[in-house]
Amino acid sequence: MLETARRYRRGETTPTREIEALLEKIRTDDHNAFITVNAEEALEQAARADRDLNEGNEDILLGVPIAIKDNICTRGLPTTCASRILSNFTPAYDATVVRGLRNRGAVIIGKTNLDEFAMGSTTTSSSIGPSRNPWDRTKTPGGSSGGSAAAVASRLCAGALGSDTGGSVRQPASFCGITGLKPTYGSVSRYGLVAFASSLDQVGPMGRSARDVSVLFDAIRGHDPRDSTSVQGTHSLLTLDGLDMHGIRVGVPKAFFAQGLSEDVEGAVNSAISVMRELGADIVPVDLTTLTYGVAVYYIIACAEASSNLARYDGVRYGLRSSDATELVELYSRTRAEGFNAEVKRRIMLGTYVLSAGYYEAYYLKASQVRTLMVQDFQQAFTRCDLIAGPTAPVTAFGLDEMLDDPLSIYLLDIYTIPASLAGLPAMSIPCGFDRGGLPIGLQLIAPSFREDVLLGAGIAFQDATTFHEVMP
Ligand code: GLN
Repeated sequence: MLETARRYRRGETTPTREIEALLEKIRTDDHNAFITVNAEEALEQAARADRDLNEGNEDILLGVPIAIKDNICTRGLPTTCASRILSNFTPAYDATVVRGLRNRGAVIIGKTNLDEFAMGSTTTSSSIGPSRNPWDRTKTPGGSSGGSAAAVASRLCAGALGSDTGGSVRQPASFCGITGLKPTYGSVSRYGLVAFASSLDQVGPMGRSARDVSVLFDAIRGHDPRDSTSVQGTHSLLTLDGLDMHGIRVGVPKAFFAQGLSEDVEGAVNSAISVMRELGADIVPVDLTTLTYGVAVYYIIACAEASSNLARYDGVRYGLRSSDATELVELYSRTRAEGFNAEVKRRIMLGTYVLSAGYYEAYYLKASQVRTLMVQDFQQAFTRCDLIAGPTAPVTAFGLDEMLDDPLSIYLLDIYTIPASLAGLPAMSIPCGFDRGGLPIGLQLIAPSFREDVLLGAGIAFQDATTFHEVMP
């Protein structure tokens, strides 16, 4: 992103030439990263950016091509959530994050692939089929923002927006060797983000460096009167300088190095922690014993909220409508049977089950109580450290057809990203090495609420000292 902006300022290229070249590249690309390409409008936006640039507009985002995950509403451009049920849906309005980008002159190059309704970790459960990992096309790019991650890593855009409910920005960033930030819950408006689990969902920026991510975050964050859960963070000004790591206490929880963590990931993460020590950080052990309950708690809460949020797809108001029904209840059930895929149905069933009379106390209420304990555990840990470091995911990218019929194993892959989601904390994945097969590994950093400035500053300091983020597939 910064690189694109610099090339414009040096006169090496223009927004129109850049967008034309990218559209051509996307046409022949085989990552299946995009659901919709916004060719015509992107060229118009580019032409406007050409003029603004000549008139001296200094905005870093001016004319810069950004891809948007297809569960974020874009005016006049289909927003399908990679689901049959929304295959014919074109929003009449922009999500606040998209409006923020347009106002800055960014070019919306297209809408990216995801697991249907952002439920998944592989981008294989999509109505248009799987996206592919640019490092190895037989492997998953991760998910659910796998299309955005693949598009950034294969240079089909300068940056992208994803959404993260339990790890969907961080895990694909880690699998594709890019940088991805899940902001503090409430620091970015959710208006126009199609709801999956409202108490967890956040839009997050993805880019090739922490600096790029910082520029995008700055453009989308802030209070929005249309989302009452959004607030104006007090700390996060645009962070482009590395943080001086001297005296920064980096907490390393033992629970982040649990059974199932691949040896290569463990090695790379430990080396990254050593880099931070060399930069001046104090490495301190911290206790986060409740982390082990994260996956169980998350899948109860996320499914409960999803079952409620997805009740709106009834074939009446918008989206798919089954043509076979003869009465109302049949219309609902046929539309939903035809419109949702198996994973979405599984979650709706799980969610209605844990919310039903007689089970509510045993599951949903219990999960909410454990969630509170996890929040307290993090608060306790942050009295002893400024940042927490660990792996983003226990493994690197795996084969596209691996684990397809094993949802439980897939759910367990979210073990390290879920805790920050449940606690609403900002967390970021940055490239920190490669496994023995040459696939990227992600380091996860977690900060206290609204301290994205610390997170991004530490990420920039790390990237100024290393080159992992510069290696591209
Ligand atoms: N993999 C997690 C899930 O399947 C996270 C998804 C997300 O963050 N959107 O729910």
